[in-house]
Amino acid sequence: MLLRKLEAYGFKSFAEKTEMEFKSGITAIVGPNGSGKSNISDAVRWVLGEQNIRNLRGNKMEDVIFSGSAKRRPLGVAEVSLVFDNTDGLLPLEFSEVTITRRVFRSGDGEYYINKAPCRLKDIHDLLLEAGLSRESMTVISQNKIDEVLNSKPEERRLLFEEAAGIVKYKNRKKEALRKLEDTEQNLTRVLDITAEIE
Ligand code: ATP
Repeated sequence: MLLRKLEAYGFKSFAEKTEMEFKSGITAIVGPNGSGKSNISDAVRWVLGEQNIRNLRGNKMEDVIFSGSAKRRPLGVAEVSLVFDNTDGLLPLEFSEVTITRRVFRSGDGEYYINKAPCRLKDIHDLLLEAGLSRESMTVISQNKIDEVLNSKPEERRLLFEEAAGIVKYKNRKKEALRKLEDTEQNLTRVLDITAEIE
């Protein structure tokens, strides 16, 4: 699966609508310090569902919205879309191209879209997990992540291997199934109590 295009508007330093096309193979982004290279990987990570603003080098979610410059007023919304080539069908959708969009307003409201259809963040997580891409995955490795991996405890490092091996999605599903089981058990207890009272 290839990331074909990134479109950003109002995200961090991208005050104007910006489009970046990627070809197969390696793409290197070069530019002076502070020109916005890392903002591109932040944008990718954000659309992939990153919820921890610290991982996007900010303090509050609003920090991803263009905050203005000497010549431009701040914007009220940030929007980024990632266009994936899905001809290999890695994403379980019957489309040869899949566009995932995330939008956030200064009010804090967020919107998510898959191929322009509104969806929940969970839908995006589930879709990406199928393809081995997720918030926690090694899809985007930031500068400080390497040090973090080297300094991590064996148990923490194991989690990284589990993610890379695709085990995490099953662990998440197990957690969800156990939670539903617990809810059902509680409902059952309540129903039994009510039945006992009626009898
Ligand atoms: P380096 O080579 O030093 O790592 P870089 O090219 O990766 O730099 P970034 O860290 O991506 O640069 O971009 C930093 C720039 O983005 C700064 O000029 C900063 O002011 C700008 N920036 C970050 N957030 C916002 C925002 N919300 N609104 C406007 N500009 C922003």
